[in-house]
Amino acid sequence: MGWFSRDVLVTFIDDATGAAFATTKMLPDDLPESFEIETTLHLGEADWSVVHAEPRTRGEYTKSGALTLRLLKIEKIGAEAISFSQLDITERFDDNQGLGKDEWISTMPLSLTIADPKSAGLPSPDADSDEVYRVASKLSALRESIPIPDDGVYCPICHIANVDLGRLRTPCPKCGRELLKFGWT
Ligand SMILES: [Zn+2]
Repeated sequence: MGWFSRDVLVTFIDDATGAAFATTKMLPDDLPESFEIETTLHLGEADWSVVHAEPRTRGEYTKSGALTLRLLKIEKIGAEAISFSQLDITERFDDNQGLGKDEWISTMPLSLTIADPKSAGLPSPDADSDEVYRVASKLSALRESIPIPDDGVYCPICHIANVDLGRLRTPCPKCGRELLKFGWT
């Protein structure tokens, strides 16, 4: 065994607090060859992004026998945040059952039902109609790219929905804006 297989004492520092939260001995070969490119580590239950490594290359930390990593915890995006592809919901999941193609049902904005709409990618409750529609249209485009059974249409401004997907991107009967894709569940 040469000097190159010596353990490296790795110190993990939480960049958010500046505090060292763990130290461990690792073989140089088990560590990335270089931290010059973006590196993500999985420690415990969380993923951490390496914001700074000292030193930065295997050659250097093998020689010094010590490596200090400043890490930033990667916050998982909540499941609800990524599942939003529309701004409104109906009161019950099966509200589309029994609705005729010419019937409209009123919807309510999701932004009123969740604590921090902005962090979920939704417009804030006081956003104006243009902003609300802009976000809704973007989300709808995403939903339009995926075939989802039983999707209908809605207007995120007038808060009405209809089961007929054939009306997608046709004018809303109330305000004339294009109707967007709407999921009932
Ligand atoms: Zn409308």
